[in-house]
Amino acid sequence: MAENRVVQGRMVTPESLAELIEGEDVMDAEPIRDADRSCPDCDGDVLQVGYMPSVMAFVTGWKCQECDWSDADRE
Ligand SMILES: [Zn+2]
Repeated sequence: MAENRVVQGRMVTPESLAELIEGEDVMDAEPIRDADRSCPDCDGDVLQVGYMPSVMAFVTGWKCQECDWSDADRE
């Protein structure tokens, strides 16, 4: 599966998708996956990415491919 996906008309990598969700630079990100949920705002397709905003943290983030909606689960 391709590493790069399209979000809101722009190509994103795992790192740039994680940065969209986090709002700042991240250290590392896992490959982008299709989330088994749809956007609560527009019912669009949602992408999932796991990433590390810092050495001690791991976040699972979700981002709608069609609108500004995103969510994150911080461990
Ligand atoms: Zn949406």
